[in-house]
Amino acid sequence: MPETPEAFWERVHTSLATPPLDEWDTWPFVGLPEPRELAPPDKADRPRHGEGGVGCHQCAHDIDDALWYDDRWVVKPLPRPSGLPCVVLLHTRQHLDFHELPEDLQAQLGPLLVRVQRAIFAIGDIGNVHVLRIGDGSEHCHIWFQARPARIHQLQSGFVQIWDDVLPPVPEDVWRANLEIVRRELNKQHTVTGAPAAP
Ligand SMILES: [Zn+2]
Repeated sequence: MPETPEAFWERVHTSLATPPLDEWDTWPFVGLPEPRELAPPDKADRPRHGEGGVGCHQCAHDIDDALWYDDRWVVKPLPRPSGLPCVVLLHTRQHLDFHELPEDLQAQLGPLLVRVQRAIFAIGDIGNVHVLRIGDGSEHCHIWFQARPARIHQLQSGFVQIWDDVLPPVPEDVWRANLEIVRRELNKQHTVTGAPAAP
């Protein structure tokens, strides 16, 4: 029988541990933090941004600032530079939660994940591009691509999401040049759905 959230919380909340973070060189901080107290379950999940498409930022801005789009998908950067050389998001054009993707979009998604990742690798000196779907913040289907510089071992893990805020932002001109490479690469390939690519 599955464990209820209440039973899960009862079992874990007095037994939280700090893993040996000081032994992990990918951990961005010095010293050991203490686990935050784990609050009991709420009555319901917190609503996510744009639930049901109401007040959805992505729906309102659709292809604004797009690096590439077709009739079903759009690739956009963050609004400003962050610590990593390139972070972009792949969104559906339609307001859909990830689990609601119809079969044709499911079939397009696999090739698109690889295609966006390759476009980011074209920047050069990119060691890896992390591809993430979390979806706890906004309901509108979006997938993260986070590029880390090559050969900096400490950025070689999931903690790179924290490092992205620990590192100072990439200089504006470098950030824009990197995005232009991604734009060029995405637009020189065929579109997924056969619709004309963005200029
Ligand atoms: Zn939306």
